[in-house]
Amino acid sequence: MYGLIDGNNFYVSCERVFAPRLVGKPVVVLSSNDGACIARSNEAKEIGVKMAQPWFQVKHLERSAGLIAVSANHELYGDMSARMMDVEARYAPRQEVYSVDESFLDFTGVCDDLMATGKAMRAAILQETGLPTSVGFGATKTLAKLANHIGKTADRKPGLYPAHLAQVCDFGRLQPQELDALFAATEVGNVWGVGKKITEKLKAGGIHTVLDLMRADSAQLRAQFSVTLEKTLLELRGTSCMEVDDAPAPRQQILVSRSFGTAITNVEGIIEACSEFVSRAAERLRGQGSLAGAVGIFFTTSPFRQNDRQHSVNVTVPLVRPTADSAVLVSAAAAAVRAHFRHGFNYAKAGAVLTDLRPVGQEQGELDLFSSIEQEAAAHTEAARAKLMTAMDALNHRFGRDSVRLGSTAAASSRDEIRVWATKQERRSPRYTTRWDEMLVVRA
Ligand SMILES: [Mg+2]
Repeated sequence: MYGLIDGNNFYVSCERVFAPRLVGKPVVVLSSNDGACIARSNEAKEIGVKMAQPWFQVKHLERSAGLIAVSANHELYGDMSARMMDVEARYAPRQEVYSVDESFLDFTGVCDDLMATGKAMRAAILQETGLPTSVGFGATKTLAKLANHIGKTADRKPGLYPAHLAQVCDFGRLQPQELDALFAATEVGNVWGVGKKITEKLKAGGIHTVLDLMRADSAQLRAQFSVTLEKTLLELRGTSCMEVDDAPAPRQQILVSRSFGTAITNVEGIIEACSEFVSRAAERLRGQGSLAGAVGIFFTTSPFRQNDRQHSVNVTVPLVRPTADSAVLVSAAAAAVRAHFRHGFNYAKAGAVLTDLRPVGQEQGELDLFSSIEQEAAAHTEAARAKLMTAMDALNHRFGRDSVRLGSTAAASSRDEIRVWATKQERRSPRYTTRWDEMLVVRA
C-alpha cells in the first residue's frame, strides 16, 4: 500500500501557523513581485478567487469581502516543508518527496492498521508543525492520490462524500461497491495525470467519471491517447506501474528568473542580478549532482511599458568543459551581459538558465589531450573548487541564503544599488523559522 500526504492549502497554512489572525479568513499568497495568486485558503476559493488569477483582478475583494493577501515567503515554506516531511518519514520505511507539500510513503511489507497510522501521522504533523494535511491510502500511487483527493474534498465540502472518509481516506478498507460509488461520484479530471486536454477528449468520448475510465478498454485507450494513460488505467485497477523513486529523474534544465521591483538601467545592476540567478541555479545543479554544459542569460524591457523603447537579450554561452562551479558559470554569464548590454533602456526582467545538464562523473575526455602533469594539476584545482562549492552550499543552508556569496554577485558599487533588483514583496511575513532576527516574539 502507498500513502500520499498532502498539505492543505499549504502556503496559506504556513502563514497561519504564525499569524492566527489569518485563520478563518479568505487569504491568498501572491507570486514574486506580487503579481498573481499562487495559493488560496478555502475561504478565498469560496469568494471566487481562481488559481493563478492576477492580483489586480481580485484586489477589490480586499474591501468588499475582507480578502487578505500576503507575499510569498518561500524561505518559510521550504523550511516548514522540510519539517513536515521529517515527521512523515517516521511512519514508513520509504518516502518519496513529490513536491513542496506532498510525499508518497511506501508501506510495502508493513502490516499496520493504516487508518490508525494515517490519523496518528496527521495528528503528529499538526502538533509538531501546526500544518493541516490530508492522507490517502491506495494499492498504487494513482489510487493513493485519488484517496487523498477524496479525503480532502470530504473534509472541505461535507455532503459530497461519506463523512467518515474526511481527512484520512483508506481505499484498502472499503468494499468494492463502496469504491465504485466513490469512483462514480468523482470526475475523471481528478485522476492524477489526467490533465485538462485529456479530460475534454475523454468526456467527448463519453468517459465522464473515474468509474467510466476504469471500465474503458485499455488497448483502445492506449491507441487513442498514450501508453501513459493506459498505465494510469492499470494503476486505477490496482496494478502498480509507478514505484516510489529513491532518486527522481534530475531536471534537464534549471531556470531562475525574476521581474525587478524597479527597472535597471546600468550594466552593473544587470550583472549583479544575473550573477545571483546563476548562483541560485548552480546551487540547485550541485544539489541534483549535475554539471552544466552551457549557461544562458536573458534580460528584457517591459512590453507593458509602451512608452519605453524595447530591447531584449537572450544568449547562451557554451562552456569549454561542463561544470558546476559557480565562479565559472557566473563569470561566463557576466561576460555575456557585458557584451550584449545597451544603454538607454529600462530593463524590467532578467533570468539565467543552465542547460546541457549531465551527471557528475560523465565528463568528456578532453583532458586526455593534455600532458599528464597538466592533467593532474587541472584535476587537483577542480577537486579543490568542488570542495569550496560544497562548503559554500553547506554554509548557506545552515546560516541562510546569501550568508556566503561570490564577490561578483555583489558587483554593484554602492550599498543602495545592491538590492534594487530584489523581488518586490511588500506583504511578506517574517522568515520565522530560518532567521534569528525574524523569530516570533511572544510578550507576556
Ligand atoms: Mg497541497
